[in-house]
Amino acid sequence: MLDDGKALVLFSGGQDSTTCLAWALDKFGSVETIGFVYGQRHAVEMTCRAPVREAMWGVNADWRARLGADHVIDLSVLGAVAESALTQDIEIAMNAEGLPTTFVPGRNLVFLTFAAMLAYRRGARHIVGGMCETDFSGYPDCRDDSVKAMQLALNIGMARQFVLHTPLMWIDKAATWALAKNLGGDKLVEMIVSETHTCYHGERSTRHAWGYGCGTCPACELRAQGFHKFSAGG
Ligand code: ZN
Repeated sequence: MLDDGKALVLFSGGQDSTTCLAWALDKFGSVETIGFVYGQRHAVEMTCRAPVREAMWGVNADWRARLGADHVIDLSVLGAVAESALTQDIEIAMNAEGLPTTFVPGRNLVFLTFAAMLAYRRGARHIVGGMCETDFSGYPDCRDDSVKAMQLALNIGMARQFVLHTPLMWIDKAATWALAKNLGGDKLVEMIVSETHTCYHGERSTRHAWGYGCGTCPACELRAQGFHKFSAGG
């Protein structure tokens, strides 16, 4: 059966999933992480995962004891079926349906399914993801209804009572920075600035107040705007 004190966090090494990891470490006695390789054009985010996990130890001594195994799942097959700026050399823009070309249809549905398969094996009741409807990039499978529908489908299909948590669903980027500060103080905020990666272009040569990135792609713009609003006390 499932352990109610155990959580599995969808962890990419970016700002959102790092904040979700801190949230889970604050709440659950045992926390494992899962990440996916799916033919991302830029693997920078994935290379941030191990240093971010290690840096978590320095934020809070309890978190060190709670943070368990990391699992990396190869879903490179996604690159074979999806035409996206995340996996191919396509310009990042809006398509005819108003969705960014970074959209990989159904990606988060696949991620949640594999996370539940792993959680089943590891006996974890709680699955935590950084899906968000605020500052919405338009991905329909990040919507609250999609996640709730997946919870129902997974619980019926696997005969388990998983709980899918999305602590960022209704908060904007500024509030995500504020949540990190509440959970781990300035230490965690500083660690997220210096260690996590969000930039779509994989740019890590320039450090801004809000972290590394090109500063102009949609992911950098969101992260920077949120940080400035958070720093201004918003
Ligand atoms: Zn960028």
